[in-house]
Amino acid sequence: MDNEKPKKPSYAFNSLFKACTSFKKRLYKKIGNGRNINLQQDRWSASLDLQPLVRHNQHLEDHPTVVADLIDERKNWRVNKIWTYFSPEKARSILALHIPKDDTEDSMDWSHTKSGNYSVKSGYWFLKSVQNNPDSNPTFWRMLWKSNIFPKWKHFIWKIMVKALPTTDNLIKRKIPNISPTCKLCNSRNENTTHILRDCQISQRVWFITMGISTSNSTQIPIQDWIKNFLNFFRKKKEDGERMIISFISTLWSIWLHRNEIIFKGTTSNPERIVELEKENSRRANNSEQRRNNENQLSKKSFSRENDEDSAVSWSKGSQTTNPNQVIVVDGAWKKKKNKSQWQAAIAWKNISQVSGEAYANRIFATSPLQTEAYAILQATKYMEWKCSDIIIKTDNLEVVKALQQNEKADKSISSIILEIKQRANSFQYFSCIKVKREEVFLAHNLAKMARLGIPSSTII
Ligand SMILES: [Zn+2]
Repeated sequence: MDNEKPKKPSYAFNSLFKACTSFKKRLYKKIGNGRNINLQQDRWSASLDLQPLVRHNQHLEDHPTVVADLIDERKNWRVNKIWTYFSPEKARSILALHIPKDDTEDSMDWSHTKSGNYSVKSGYWFLKSVQNNPDSNPTFWRMLWKSNIFPKWKHFIWKIMVKALPTTDNLIKRKIPNISPTCKLCNSRNENTTHILRDCQISQRVWFITMGISTSNSTQIPIQDWIKNFLNFFRKKKEDGERMIISFISTLWSIWLHRNEIIFKGTTSNPERIVELEKENSRRANNSEQRRNNENQLSKKSFSRENDEDSAVSWSKGSQTTNPNQVIVVDGAWKKKKNKSQWQAAIAWKNISQVSGEAYANRIFATSPLQTEAYAILQATKYMEWKCSDIIIKTDNLEVVKALQQNEKADKSISSIILEIKQRANSFQYFSCIKVKREEVFLAHNLAKMARLGIPSSTII
């Protein structure tokens, strides 16, 4: 389709050529890591043609060529660069676009369907995206996604595999302040994914007790390969393979849980506690068949409630523990200015389960009230991630809750935000987002409104 039109085209070729060009016009690239979106050639937002201005007074080597040039290491927009190379109107639209936090490839989007997903499974673009997929081990992933383990475990393994677990070395790389690099299990080495999950002296003892695995010989193997090898090995075992997989992942998960207990609950490092957690988690996972049936019934229930206006519409994940719920109210404030191309947006949330609960308010770039609300929920989820086990988020926006329920039908301006919220929801034992009446979120509403207007508030953290 990229080919030039030949000089003497046949009638058939002509119509085909026309069909292809109009087809291509409607396709645009959806941001992943931004490396395959060329700023001069590609359309990368459904609403605007986002070509950069050519500034002759700029150094040529600074001139962005692909979208990745506009994104920093922490996956945020390079604000200065964007204001330099784009018109104010385009700059605002770019800054409102959500950048996926995981290192996913850019993909094609179909601008005429609401969710923007290109649904035809055959054809050029589909083949191309498969070729560009960096993952060379599809069997492993197929095995992982198909397996009966908890979704939060799949997400956890996936985070390890894409090197995105929020270990202290990763947080320091992302320049998050006040992070102590020391491993909280042994207090002697620095923490990274391989150390905490395998090579730490505490973890080594745990591996030996739970699975009889001696880890001291494996220190040369990256943890990602080590996990893949073991899981593939267990998968091929006819007897007991499934139980071994559960025990293996449960060990990884329990080490991570205990590490979080030490950091967030202030408990002391104790290998016996990890072994205890491993037993409990394995037991729960082995009973998961029963559990999954229950969850299916629950989700059916909440789905059928959707049409009933009197009861709450919600999206939930996991099951409630005995820990207290953290209840967060969120809201977004969005206003179009008189000059039509400009808008103002701000997000806010407040933890209402505690008297002096955390609060947040800030101005953001967003192109609609819906996108603003989705960003507000994402920000609250991100902030509370790993800080509590059970969370309830209350929003007055029905569409955003429906988007969580049916991701594939979400408006494309929020689909990748919704996806990130759902991924992060896995970090909690229980996550629920509920549509409530406007009055219930008034604390967040006031904060957001003040932030939109630029009024500083003393409660803002
Ligand atoms: Zn350690």
